[in-house]
Amino acid sequence: MATSDWLAAFEKTAAAIGAWEPSSAATLSALDAVRIDFLGRNGRLTEVLKGLKDLPLEDRKLYGPKAQSARAELEGRIAARKAALESHRDLSLEKSGVDVTLPASPALRGRLHPVTLMMGEMTRVLGLMGYSLAEGPLVETDWHNFEALNIPAHHPARDAHDTFYLKDLPTLLRTHTSPVQVRTMEKTKPPLKIVCPGRAFRRDAVDASHSAVFYQMECLAVGHGITFADLKGTLEVFMRTLLGSSTRIRFRPSFFPFTEPSAEVDVSCLLCGGQGSGGGGKGCSACKQSGWVELLGAGVVNPAVFKLVGLDPEEWTGFAFGIGIERLAMMKYRIPDIRLFYENDLRFLDQFDEDIL
Ligand SMILES: [Zn+2]
Repeated sequence: MATSDWLAAFEKTAAAIGAWEPSSAATLSALDAVRIDFLGRNGRLTEVLKGLKDLPLEDRKLYGPKAQSARAELEGRIAARKAALESHRDLSLEKSGVDVTLPASPALRGRLHPVTLMMGEMTRVLGLMGYSLAEGPLVETDWHNFEALNIPAHHPARDAHDTFYLKDLPTLLRTHTSPVQVRTMEKTKPPLKIVCPGRAFRRDAVDASHSAVFYQMECLAVGHGITFADLKGTLEVFMRTLLGSSTRIRFRPSFFPFTEPSAEVDVSCLLCGGQGSGGGGKGCSACKQSGWVELLGAGVVNPAVFKLVGLDPEEWTGFAFGIGIERLAMMKYRIPDIRLFYENDLRFLDQFDEDIL
């Protein structure tokens, strides 16, 4: 290398070093970047120093010391800045009383509400059984909530469905998820299998087992030749998958305007295994020693409902069942009071996650 070339490179680097303001390195890592830039293995000053060996002896003697002193000076400035940054860091930490050696606090992770978890699991199981999700509005017409489900204005069954009416009658907050059945049958030609989970409302006084707002899940199957036996089989598979393979179910005759025949369905008590015993000789309190817990309403779709939604009851048959989601969660997790679901107490909510399902 010609001495003049080397000299030009050296002067350029020396000028860059001279122009560097140590205070511009605000952190130790920024300072280290400067050190690597000039003094690293392929740093700018390192390259210049490597070039010295190619110069004639005379020039080496002349410029070598200059280059070495440039390096020493830069190293000195970097070391001084490093010390300043470190002492500053120590001081500020001491003053603030922060102990950087303490372990970090764990990040809080949100989780799904137990009602959401239960609803998701129920929908998932029915999805595996071929049911598709259907949804409808919370504010319903009188037609969809009552009339089309064979509950005319004068019918005493409306007593059990007292709800909140909106100003522009006849709209109301739906009292069950059954109106979704009506809406689906009005616009979709059978055969169909749907599951409709969602919120429902009743003008109930709030107590340990009643809430004015609650969650329900409705299931409907319509097709050719569907019978009560299909309903029984479906509920048996559904409950066993959801609650365990030893779960038993039983049907008791009941009445709903939109199904005929209708049944209340009980499942064997999860807590005592259907024995009714336990609780230190006093018997199982969850099932009042009967071994059974009343869980849902079901039945074969009333031909009157098919007529009302414009389907031929001679051609189509079907079944439906509706189940309270909180009630199932209360039984499954032994929750004594429905109000716990709505109090937003983290000590309660923190106990649920996907793993316990
Ligand atoms: Zn029991």
